[in-house]
Amino acid sequence: MAMYEMAEPKLISRNFSKTGVIRPPKGLVVHVTDGARTLPALFNFFSLREQKLRDGSSTRSSSHFGIGKEGTIWQFVDTDHQAFAQGPGAPAWISVEHCGVIGEALTDEQIESVGNILSWLHGIYPSIPLRLAKNARDIGLAYHSIDTSWSKSGRCPGKPVIAQLPRIVEFALAGY
Ligand SMILES: [Zn+2]
Repeated sequence: MAMYEMAEPKLISRNFSKTGVIRPPKGLVVHVTDGARTLPALFNFFSLREQKLRDGSSTRSSSHFGIGKEGTIWQFVDTDHQAFAQGPGAPAWISVEHCGVIGEALTDEQIESVGNILSWLHGIYPSIPLRLAKNARDIGLAYHSIDTSWSKSGRCPGKPVIAQLPRIVEFALAGY
């Protein structure tokens, strides 16, 4: 049982797995919703029995955490379990969605909140280093499109967010 005390517990009842999990995790993967604009909308999507993407295809997705524009954190999946956010990268990585649009930057509040999550993860899983992961086989802070097998479109989370990742590490190192 690993729940972040600074997050609102909003556990979903489907679209995650208690099996096939690799722990300790390799790190934290950054995502942008590019759809759900609020945490309640994201929770509702993750809770759907049938999730449909914009192109009409079905999916089964979830993340461990979600962060609203104003920095509020919700936890959807216990970090002992597997959230389905990045394909073959799901079993060994913790995932965080940020409400927003791909192509736009995270807010300062979102950067601070995700930095806090990374710091907390490092506390309970000390093998996760407070640095950027170089690729999907590395450890640390990663992002969805870091590996083509993780992201078909290669769009998430977008260049402005990738450029902000060092700031997230700085927040985590500051120990907030
Ligand atoms: Zn993503």
